[in-house]
Amino acid sequence: MNLRLLRKQASTLWTLASARKPVYMILYLTARCNFRCPMCFYLEEINDPNKEEMAFPELEKLARSLDRLVQLSLTGGEPFLRHDIPEIVDLFVRHNRVGFVTIPTNGSLPERIEGTVERLVREYPGVNFRIPVSLDGYPADHDAIRGAKSYEKIERTMALLTSLRRRCDNLTVDINTCYSSLNQGKVRGLVEFVRERFDIDNHSVTYVRGNTDDAMKQASVGEYTDLVEEVRRRPNRRESRPFSSWFRAVMDYQRDIIRRTLLKDEMTVPCAAGRRMIVVNERAEVLPCEILNRKLGSLKDHDYDVSRVLATPEAVELVDWIRRTKCHCTFECALATSIIYHPASYPRVAWRAMKHWWRSGWASARSSIRPEATRGTISLPILQPRG
Ligand code: SF4
Ligand code: SF4
Repeated sequence: MNLRLLRKQASTLWTLASARKPVYMILYLTARCNFRCPMCFYLEEINDPNKEEMAFPELEKLARSLDRLVQLSLTGGEPFLRHDIPEIVDLFVRHNRVGFVTIPTNGSLPERIEGTVERLVREYPGVNFRIPVSLDGYPADHDAIRGAKSYEKIERTMALLTSLRRRCDNLTVDINTCYSSLNQGKVRGLVEFVRERFDIDNHSVTYVRGNTDDAMKQASVGEYTDLVEEVRRRPNRRESRPFSSWFRAVMDYQRDIIRRTLLKDEMTVPCAAGRRMIVVNERAEVLPCEILNRKLGSLKDHDYDVSRVLATPEAVELVDWIRRTKCHCTFECALATSIIYHPASYPRVAWRAMKHWWRSGWASARSSIRPEATRGTISLPILQPRG
């Protein structure tokens, strides 16, 4: 292990251990999108003609008000419709020394995505970037769900990103599939298709969630849970990202908790949303998560200072409500953060990390013969909050 990696791991651990403010922020950069996917949980905002977006000076005030961030997810809408992503990332590198940045995309703007990502990975070699690209079916099925000729763009985006990934150690390229009534029955085949077709790091399959048409949620949970087991047994590529075995171990344990939550309808790990993880949407509202339909407050009322929002009686009361009521759901991002802040979970995570480390070593050895060992990950349905 090189010295830079070791230093980054030590500093990430220190940030996690000493944090008094959120270490994980999901930031909605825009509600603009060039697609209208029927299963999207953000369609209402995307279709709103009176959209808002935080301008650069407002984002700068937000960054200044936070301490160090371990993880920043820039989302939307389609985040790459914003032309100032490099400047926004620069803000969070300068003010918050962010270590990991994820930018999910529908993959519809190949050259713009590649240009932006290349600039990011080269300008910030100490930051790890992850780009999950959405793919929901075989070419014709994907086009039927996302729009004509959208698959063609995915092919181009993936070719550009995976070629860049081979040249840059600090880039992870994933595919994400949204499992819904639109593609159930075909996702198992799609997982194989992706394995053969794309040289990616992870393939995650997430169950449709949030505020979307109920018809989209009529997908077989049985088939889905079978997929979970199937994909879990697969070998996975060894990533260059620091902590990759630990990330995968947390995701594995998170899936066990999700299954238990679904079966027993009870809290396993106290939720860290609103304390260690926050969501900030493009209208400058601060929320504990994407699931609970409640706000911690608005940045506009507090000069874009997140600490002031989190200190308001309303925010303190909401965080206390989450703790008191043992609020539980299956939102993966909040669960992963909560596991990290739950020492009782560490032995289970450590055991899984060892298994991943061992398996990825084996997969790397195999991939020198057959370079196709990609790991799929599956996320179970988002259960509505129970408080
Ligand atoms: S591309 Fe993403 S954000 Fe845009 S409509 Fe589809 S699911 Fe929603
Ligand atoms: S348990 Fe789920 S719904 Fe409740 S606060 Fe946490 S993430 Fe939000």
